[in-house]
Amino acid sequence: MVATTPSLFDPETAAGDAPAAPAAARPDDGRVGVLLPLPFDQAFDYASDRPLAPGTLVRVTFGRQPRVGVVWAGRRGTPPPAAKLKPVDAVLDLPPLSDELCRLVERTADYTLSPAGAVLRMVLSCPAGLSPPPTRAHVVRAGPAPDRLTDARRRVLDRLADGLPRVPADLARTAGVSDGVVRGLVDAGTLALEDLDRDPPLARPDPATPGPALNPEQHDAFQAIARRQTAGGFEAFLLEGVTGSGKTEVYFEAIARALADDADAQVAVLLPEIALTLQWLDRFARRFGCAPVQWHSGLTAAARRQAWRGVAEGRARVVVGARSALFLPYRRLKLIVVDEEHDPSFKQEDGVLYHARDMAVMRASLAQTPVILASATPSLESRVNARQGRYSHLRLTERHGAAVLPAVETVDMRTDGPEPGRWLAPALVAAIDGALDRGEQSLLFLNRRGYAPLTLCRQCGARYECPNCTAWLVEHRYRGRLECHHCGHSMATPDTCFECGAEGELVACGPGVERLGDEVTERWPDARAVVLASDTLTGPDDAARVVARIEAGQVDIVVGTQLITKGYHFPALTVVGVVDADLGLKGGDLRAAERTYQQLVQVAGRAGRADREGAVYLQTYDPDHPVTRALITGDKDRFMDLEEEARARAGMPPFGRLAGLVVEGPDLAGVVEAGRLLARTAPRVEGTAIYGPVPAPLARLRGRHRHRLLVQTGRDISIQRLLRAWIDPLKLPPKVRLKVDIDPISFL
Ligand code: ADP
Ligand code: ZN
Repeated sequence: MVATTPSLFDPETAAGDAPAAPAAARPDDGRVGVLLPLPFDQAFDYASDRPLAPGTLVRVTFGRQPRVGVVWAGRRGTPPPAAKLKPVDAVLDLPPLSDELCRLVERTADYTLSPAGAVLRMVLSCPAGLSPPPTRAHVVRAGPAPDRLTDARRRVLDRLADGLPRVPADLARTAGVSDGVVRGLVDAGTLALEDLDRDPPLARPDPATPGPALNPEQHDAFQAIARRQTAGGFEAFLLEGVTGSGKTEVYFEAIARALADDADAQVAVLLPEIALTLQWLDRFARRFGCAPVQWHSGLTAAARRQAWRGVAEGRARVVVGARSALFLPYRRLKLIVVDEEHDPSFKQEDGVLYHARDMAVMRASLAQTPVILASATPSLESRVNARQGRYSHLRLTERHGAAVLPAVETVDMRTDGPEPGRWLAPALVAAIDGALDRGEQSLLFLNRRGYAPLTLCRQCGARYECPNCTAWLVEHRYRGRLECHHCGHSMATPDTCFECGAEGELVACGPGVERLGDEVTERWPDARAVVLASDTLTGPDDAARVVARIEAGQVDIVVGTQLITKGYHFPALTVVGVVDADLGLKGGDLRAAERTYQQLVQVAGRAGRADREGAVYLQTYDPDHPVTRALITGDKDRFMDLEEEARARAGMPPFGRLAGLVVEGPDLAGVVEAGRLLARTAPRVEGTAIYGPVPAPLARLRGRHRHRLLVQTGRDISIQRLLRAWIDPLKLPPKVRLKVDIDPISFL
């Protein structure tokens, strides 16, 4: 039976025991609560001689440290005696955080079992943005022109005719005069110096430029969203459409509508792998006349400060960013878009363990705005939400224009595989030959960085393992090193075996993209090939250059990891080879099949996006696997239906609730003891199952031992409440930490 699933944004189930927020902080007793961006769940009392609205940003002293915190309505601890009370030192010159954001902080904390202060820390993630922006002297027109108007002076005044302030040195340079001329005009009272923001104003996207005429399906999808935008209020849309069907065009229309309807509206767009979406940024700029404000880890300090403050002051209209862009202090959020909503990178795996897609839906419900979740391969969770009526399902079934979906074929590696020491089967090689002859591009996908995933000694069988983690060291031949992909441990690739001392006997086992790149160069010495992986690129600019070269047809064969699966559009690409279609299915976690399927559909979607037909080759040892079958028949719904049935039968999310518990510490004994303590004290509640403790698949990580437990409950049980009652009273051995992961995505 399918349980009625209360949703994440339903206050009953999401909030756990969240206190109801009173309308205003109580200034009556001369105190306010202040939540600090520190790992505390409670707000601390400070003295204030005037009432301060919740959300107000204030400077206080905590311990001996000056801190910026937020006036908070609830979560007050035991009130300290008046004599011990410290004053609020200052009120920051920024608009207060919106009520909607304060509630998001509370909900996220309650849902993920994190301290509210830790969530607030994500909101105040840019300390530089909290201070007023640095200023710089500018000259502005202040009085009549002087009597003696030289040619040089006239040129300066002409430059200022548009009324915009200018930095003196820049003005002198562009007017072709010496600094003294500008100074003379200031002395004469014609110009004046003013301290103005150093940051240039943020550009305003222009919603008036029309987009392309929408096809009927796109039009219907947009109309559904527009109706909600007009009526106001919350609604979640699942925008499902094959790659190339125009999902981006549809949500661009919705963005334009939000901006046109309200001069102060703000829009947040969350994308995975933001650093590599320059194609997306270009497209946005072409449509809206300027770049959106970006928010991701690769920004310079100045760009970060400008973005954060621009959002807080409401000047940033459209923000595009990675998951953390969700916790920015928007003043007037009118639309949220989550593109590639199925992407696992929306789950944050350290600190506050939240899922940005789920929290985006929650934020939209708090802000009473629409949210659009777009994907060619929606997550099973979103699909169920749509079928059960909590999300409105919008479907685009056809590729725009002439493009058709590529044909998918399997290559059975048991019978039709390559010769030993090679990785590309004859059928795939022949297809690439064909593409080269026709002047078209091919792409080889292998989700494995480096040259080879394992190095061993032919003499004694010794293997190179990371000293800190349960993981093999991966050879990176371009760099000449063996590296751990978990902790970064690295060593020069040795000549002699560390175990038996044999020389020249070390062999690389299995392929990574670099090794595949070598095979491509050997087979097609005249073809122009490029290997695209996070460590063959030096940064976003480099990535942009490589993508531009591919777009311009200067590359014949692309070899890449999952980096290339995201949204690129390469019109001349017609052959896609999936080198190891079974790879993602190993290790078998809950979503292995679903995720492999999604990834392979994305890769396959790179082929034949324009007017040429594409073909996809899946190299597999298991051609009858349901994932492979589904890719060949293109029957996505049937595959997902089967997955859904299996999950429902097992009571797994979204049909049941799941939490991962990881105990970790520097010595094994303490970790084992903590695991036993958890097992001994585990609640025995009907409808709840607890598995473990067992050593985690990554039993050691960065030198710390790790054991796991898994808690599974029905949908009718508040797993947060159950966990709190169980864990809060426990006293763990020293140095052992317990991490709780609600709705885990990773089971490592
Ligand atoms: P998706 O986001 O679903 O992968 P896109 O929005 O990227 O699809 O559309 C694929 C290509 O088709 C893009 O180049 C896009 O500009 C073009 N396209 C989509 N819809 C239209 C339309 N209505 N008119 C003209 N071009 C369109
Ligand atoms: Zn390691």
